[in-house]
Amino acid sequence: MTSIAAPTAEEQVAFLGKIERLLSEGQFVATYKYALLLAIADLAVKLGRDHGSELDLPIRAIAEEFIELYWRQSAPYGNSVADGAYNVLQQNTGRQAAIISIVEDLRQAHGTLPRARQSAAWAPAVTEATRLVRDMPLWRLQRLRNEVLDFLYSESPVAGHIRLKHGVAANLRRFHAIIVRLAQSEWMHFIQALPGNSQLLGPTSDLGQFLFGADRSALLRMATSLADIQNGECLYCRRRVERGEIDHFVPWSRYPRDLAHNLVLTHKECNRHKSDLLAAETHLDRWLARNQAHGAAISEAARTANIIVDLAGTVSVAGWAYAHGASLHAATWLRGDEVEPLSGRWRSLLVEYG
Ligand SMILES: [Zn+2]
Repeated sequence: MTSIAAPTAEEQVAFLGKIERLLSEGQFVATYKYALLLAIADLAVKLGRDHGSELDLPIRAIAEEFIELYWRQSAPYGNSVADGAYNVLQQNTGRQAAIISIVEDLRQAHGTLPRARQSAAWAPAVTEATRLVRDMPLWRLQRLRNEVLDFLYSESPVAGHIRLKHGVAANLRRFHAIIVRLAQSEWMHFIQALPGNSQLLGPTSDLGQFLFGADRSALLRMATSLADIQNGECLYCRRRVERGEIDHFVPWSRYPRDLAHNLVLTHKECNRHKSDLLAAETHLDRWLARNQAHGAAISEAARTANIIVDLAGTVSVAGWAYAHGASLHAATWLRGDEVEPLSGRWRSLLVEYG
């Protein structure tokens, strides 16, 4: 695969237009296509580069993302339905989506996602999910009613892989936040519109939080360990934290997923000021150093708190977020109301610790 130039502005706009067409014109009988798009966008962030090259993605990796996406969604929703068997949200117009039974088997045997991942049942479950991804959404996502719009990927000559076409990984990385929001909101509307869900959903308004939100209780279970690891100090201002908060170092709005090493202990005030901004390079330096010194301790705490551990993936997500920020000339948060532009030091820091 040769390296070619990143997509032009015109190609980027055309790409977003096609994504929108896939979501609005495709015929969806299950939520798989949303999950597939989210999985591919995520893997482009973790494994891709910003130049225009093609990228091979293992279908097994897509299947693992599927299990992860449906894990939280297959938990019982609400508490008003007495019969537990019926309070999992429907994900399909017909019978319940098959991925749900794969996930439920894992959940019943292992309780939590991190434990399921470490179990002997994980590999066969991924194999089953891989078959499902291949049979169901993979070759249907790019079909509209009367048209094939296969701009994203094709079969790869490498067995068990798909090949993202030229420019696709770069575009998915650039527009990750937009694509995630689009796919999530379409997914949510699909679930709301299924008649089987109407009784379950009732008048509650926390569906988005349930389907895609951060697992706050899991995050809180990390607080004590992170306080030990950070010597009781806020990662950002380095002052003592009495009653702190857990912040996503790479903001949740940019990468909506809980990864253990992305979590930091902060003051409520520092967290509020930082909001959805990237942290300044001086904080990036401290965050990378913390993860290098205490990576194993964080992993251990995360396993107890049921949070995904993937240090290398977390660092590449940070690399992607800073490169993306740099390309947009994004302001980064320093302290209080102070922001500053990126100097470029983030690049050498990520190489140094990466
Ligand atoms: Zn602070």
